[in-house]
Amino acid sequence: MNTIGLYGLGVMGASLAGNMLNKGEKVAVYNHTPDLTDKFKSDFPHENADLHYDLKRFVSSLETPRKIFLLVTAGSVTDSVIESLSPLLDKGDIIMDGGNSNFVDSNRRYHALKEQRIHFLGVGVSGGQEGALKGPALMPGGDEAAYKEVAPVLEKISAQVNGKACCAYVGREGSGHYVKMIHNGIEYADMQLITETYQIMRNILGYTVEEIADIFEEWNQGELESYLLEITSDILRRKDDDTGRPLVDVILDKSGQKGTGKWTSQNALDLGVPLSIITESVFARFLSSLKNERVEAAVKLNGPEPKLETNREEWLEILRQALFVGKINAYTQGFQQYKKASDEYQWELNLREIALIFRGGCIIRASILNQISAAYDEDKDLNNLLLASYFNDKVNDYESSLRRIVVKAVENGLYVPCLTASLTYYDGYRSAESGANMIQAQRDYFGAHTYQRNDKDGVFHTEW
Ligand code: NDP
Repeated sequence: MNTIGLYGLGVMGASLAGNMLNKGEKVAVYNHTPDLTDKFKSDFPHENADLHYDLKRFVSSLETPRKIFLLVTAGSVTDSVIESLSPLLDKGDIIMDGGNSNFVDSNRRYHALKEQRIHFLGVGVSGGQEGALKGPALMPGGDEAAYKEVAPVLEKISAQVNGKACCAYVGREGSGHYVKMIHNGIEYADMQLITETYQIMRNILGYTVEEIADIFEEWNQGELESYLLEITSDILRRKDDDTGRPLVDVILDKSGQKGTGKWTSQNALDLGVPLSIITESVFARFLSSLKNERVEAAVKLNGPEPKLETNREEWLEILRQALFVGKINAYTQGFQQYKKASDEYQWELNLREIALIFRGGCIIRASILNQISAAYDEDKDLNNLLLASYFNDKVNDYESSLRRIVVKAVENGLYVPCLTASLTYYDGYRSAESGANMIQAQRDYFGAHTYQRNDKDGVFHTEW
């Protein structure tokens, strides 16, 4: 009998199945059309691969409780696949959805399958094709008892950091997909922060693309160490075959997206979380897509042109510090959202474990995650990462650099939404007096919405 079944042999499914085979699992594979099954046969020839072209035979080839990993297109396809599978399953069998499903759909599937006594785990998967094959970060959520059944396989195929699997049970219902969603939001912000830093280096500090590749490589040896910084360095070194120019210079500046960043921001609005940095990174992609309008506006709208800074070595260290504070604030906002969601949806998310999962295999892997997990280790109910000792010291040391960089960029007319949002979030969070007393007065003036006072209890209204 096969220990696990994999349904969906596209890019991710085939790679994950290959990973499972390489780790000694007996894997049954199935795809709704035969072509990808045939392709899998030639791409991953393995004696422990059991290829199926018939769904019933695929299901009955699995040891019980059956464990079936789905890697199919998210949305209605996932629903129809579950619909076709569930009549073939028995009580106690486990369906894992590794697609980029919306957590609201995963909540619904979790409860619908529970009624049929079938366990559902929503499993966030990060790391792309290469991660899937060599070791992804996995974020499984659902019933903890069901997770224990699949843990030996999932923890074996995931990335490992210092002997610890980048896979752990994260929480109830569809929380696995929620964790993946916020991961992607943080990824958007991290990418945008690096991009803004790059823009400043080129347009204000006057470094060449090759020099910036070296600078990022050097920064990657220190506290900024991350997969995204590493690949940015690689990207900057790549030349275009046709023109010999840096490839990045011939790539059209319109960024795509698949929607997980948008979902993160939408959920932040639902929960009332100030997720300004991630949300600005989503807006930056929207604004980038208006290429034709931007080209026209560049001619019609006034603003300063960037001027080269002469003292660029000194500014480079200021910029490095600004990027680090920007990044700390972005991760802080993402983890704030986890905390709020955990309370609101009663998921009991383990923030320390989530930080540890992200250390390997996934796109936002970075050394900062060690400090994040240590902060939650010290205080699992920590309100805000900026108040944990390591981050508290770091932002106190570096905040003036972020401030100077934002001022410099704004003076030069550069678009730096995430660095700016990072600074305004920081200043807003550290303000004991927010100014919202004026908002309350205005609301009471035009709408009799009432207000509270800071010198006595009660609810008040003024006839303005
Ligand atoms: P692919 O497009 O390569 O694969 C999609 C899979 O879904 C194929 O096996 C496809 O089969 C199958 N499928 C499509 N329609 C149906 C249907 N009606 N019934 C049954 N099966 C169907 O996508 P990926 O492998 O990249 O992604 C798979 C999932 O993993 C997605 O949800 C994606 O969001 C998620 N994901 C992707 C990551 C990535 O980096 N690519 C990272 C993490 C998650 P066929 O082609 O034969 O129709």
